[in-house]
Amino acid sequence: MIVTDLPGYPSLKEYQRIVGRKQFSAIEELAGRLSGVKIQEINSTRYGGGVAEILMSYVPFLNALGLETTWSVMEAGPEFFDVTKTLHNFLQGREGFSPSMVETYWEAQRQNEGLIEDDADVVTIHDPQPLGLVEFLTARELERKRLLWRCHVQLETVPTQTVGSIGNTLRRLVEKYHASIFSSFQYLPLWNVPSFIIPPFIDPLSEKNREIPQNEINATLTKYGIDPEKPIVTQVSRYDVFKDPVGVIQSFKKVRQKTPCQLVLVGGRACDDPECFLVLREVRETAEDDPDIHVLDLPPDSHREINALQRASDVIVQKSIKEGFGLTVTEGLWKGKPVVAGNVGGIPLQIRDGWNGYLVSTIQETADRILHLLRNPEKAAEMGARGREFVREYYLLPRGVQDHLTVIDQMQN
Ligand code: UDP
Repeated sequence: MIVTDLPGYPSLKEYQRIVGRKQFSAIEELAGRLSGVKIQEINSTRYGGGVAEILMSYVPFLNALGLETTWSVMEAGPEFFDVTKTLHNFLQGREGFSPSMVETYWEAQRQNEGLIEDDADVVTIHDPQPLGLVEFLTARELERKRLLWRCHVQLETVPTQTVGSIGNTLRRLVEKYHASIFSSFQYLPLWNVPSFIIPPFIDPLSEKNREIPQNEINATLTKYGIDPEKPIVTQVSRYDVFKDPVGVIQSFKKVRQKTPCQLVLVGGRACDDPECFLVLREVRETAEDDPDIHVLDLPPDSHREINALQRASDVIVQKSIKEGFGLTVTEGLWKGKPVVAGNVGGIPLQIRDGWNGYLVSTIQETADRILHLLRNPEKAAEMGARGREFVREYYLLPRGVQDHLTVIDQMQN
């Protein structure tokens, strides 16, 4: 499936106003150098999760720059996504991947055999789901194209000692690519493939992140029965154990014993994540019909509502126990909110403890930090303001585009 229904996007001039002329000139120069290069992005879901979020903005931005870029999404049945979820968990250090799952993985790769376009010059494959597509390219195609594997996962040390192990298969596949891209240097595997570090980014002009009127924010609170007068603590995340929504509820209950407040858990179901139904059930059981806990299960296109809920919040939480990068942290910071987040994965790249938020590891610590911010709104506002400028400097779409085009430019030489 080629995604052609990309929504209208803002003008490049608007981005330039946000990040400044200097950075923009550099991007235009790179785009000029790459003129005529055809780019293809491939991932496994159109909606839900950080990768879809990035591609939704990145692809139209490149097209607006005059670089022909397409976005293709793998198609596969639910059993494949069961397998890739287990694989994803395996890469983040959890056991459970069995060799019998290998056949399901390859069946889906075969179903999508023709997905890499013949005339694409640079193809970026995102995450392990479509990684195996490289196997269907001929030697000539492999030589003519430039293939990049973009890994968004917090990659733990992948065991590759055992012959025939899944770790070994991954390694063998990745080594067929011309280069790999990771979100942080911590995840670089010692594999024989040139690697680049490019942190993810958010689009400041997307529906998720652009400024929205106060009456829309108020209307969203009313719609979900959230009291605008009571402090709001929010976590936005897929319902996934690594996002620890149950831990967030436990932390919140401790805070609420000391000060009145509400918790909003905003989540949805990424269509490539079959486990989320189980997690959502556990979340609802832990929330126990508590009127101060709002557990929302939103459709995948709820960007403006999520925007409104983040803006209405006093504190944003992202209590992950594993996190590739954590775009929800970036989104919270960009909206001028202090963020209390797990000291894991890519989160410390965004939060300097005590400066623009707090890094936490336990339920008690999370509760203490939230309480502190709710009791000190001026300090919270100062932290939020710093966070916004930090994101402007490092984690907005134009910087991500500049980094990617730099890698593509190097691959051409
Ligand atoms: N998101 C969303 N709806 C949801 C949950 C998450 O639109 O119900 C978005 C969220 O705003 C963020 C992205 O999905 O832009 C999640 O990216 P992140 O890097 O935080 O985590 P991932 O889901 O990729 O592990």
